[in-house]
Amino acid sequence: MSRKKGIPIIFLLVVMVLALKWWSAQVRKNHEQRCRSNMEVLYSAAISSCLEQKKGPDEVLNFDEVAMYVRPMDRVCPEGHIPYASFSVLQGPACPHGHQFLPGEKRPLTASANNAKMRGLYMAYGFTNLIVHETASRPE
Ligand SMILES: [Zn+2]
Repeated sequence: MSRKKGIPIIFLLVVMVLALKWWSAQVRKNHEQRCRSNMEVLYSAAISSCLEQKKGPDEVLNFDEVAMYVRPMDRVCPEGHIPYASFSVLQGPACPHGHQFLPGEKRPLTASANNAKMRGLYMAYGFTNLIVHETASRPE
C-alpha cells in the first residue's frame, strides 16, 4: 500500500468509527425512551391492579399480575430484553439496565391530586400525605 492511499483509508476508518459511535448513541437513547414509556405503562397497570385486587400502594405486586395488563413487548427493557422486576406503586418500576423511571423524583412516589386513580388509591390506604396538589399530572 502506498503512502498516498493510506491517508484516505485512515480518514474513512475515522469517519466510520465516528458514525458507528453516533449510531450507537442514537440506539441507546431510543432504548431509554422506549424503556421509560414501558415503565409508565407498567406503572399505570400497577395502579389499576392495586385498585382491582384491593392492594395498597406499598405492596410489592407480583409482576405477572401487572404484566397481564401490558403488551408482551412492553414487559421488557428494549435494551437486552430483560423483564422488569416486581415493584410497588410507591417505589415504581426499576429497569434492569438502570434506565430511570421518573428521574429526580424521591421515593416513595407522590400522587398528583389531578390523577383520580392514584389519588383514590393513596386515599384508600391512608397515604394522604403523599397526595400533591399541583398542576402537573402523572400518566393515567
Ligand atoms: Zn431499560
